[in-house]
Amino acid sequence: MTIIVLIGPPGAGKGTQAQGLVLRHGLVQLSTGEMLRAAVQSGSEIGLQVDALMRAGELVSDAIVVALIAEQFELRPDAPGFILDGFPRTWGQADALDALLSARRMRIDHVVELTVDEAMLTERIAGRFSCGRCGAGYHELFKRPVAEGQCDICGANSFQRRLDDTATAVRNRLALYRADTAPILARYEQAGLVRRVDGMGDMATVATALDAMLNHDVGGTSRRARASNPPGK
Ligand code: AMP
Repeated sequence: MTIIVLIGPPGAGKGTQAQGLVLRHGLVQLSTGEMLRAAVQSGSEIGLQVDALMRAGELVSDAIVVALIAEQFELRPDAPGFILDGFPRTWGQADALDALLSARRMRIDHVVELTVDEAMLTERIAGRFSCGRCGAGYHELFKRPVAEGQCDICGANSFQRRLDDTATAVRNRLALYRADTAPILARYEQAGLVRRVDGMGDMATVATALDAMLNHDVGGTSRRARASNPPGK
């Protein structure tokens, strides 16, 4: 099972690239942001707890997001792999993820840092919107629907913007990224897991870099398997 962690500031394109990996490789995307937005929309207990924090661009508690991820691991034991999009975001979440994975004899294969020029983030965030039905992501400048006003994936005609894509919330989210999330890259760096991909490249270029990394991984695995099981044995 392949486990990929996508890390990058708001607007780096984590969600877009994760959706691409789902379509091209059949991996399962686990986006804590999406799960929390769904909880808010459904009016659940968790949704009520996190609504105000999310609008302000603050982090919700480690306990809540770790429980969401653990639940998904339980629900999908047969998944070919997971892309963690927006999790872990704190040192405590990274510890909890290690524990969840080792209890299942799994481990992280890659940590992908999408690097971006911060000056461009606001432009990116200001133009983004998503399908109101299936959540597919679009951008006013970089990725409009093929047929104007109609989702490429599910055909719906209604679109929405995120409530935390306001200037104040984005400032908060960036500050928290620098303070809490960027430092956990060092621990993954030490483990030799971090791959840096230029998130300012266009979507296709970033996707190609991610695919090259995954294909290399699959090739490496099969070479190792052949070496330990030579023909005729
Ligand atoms: P995202 O869609 O990943 O940008 O997340 C949107 C918002 O959801 C964040 O600004 C936080 O309020 C909350 N959130 C998502 N993932 C996490 C996480 N791993 N830890 C804490 N809060 C999170």
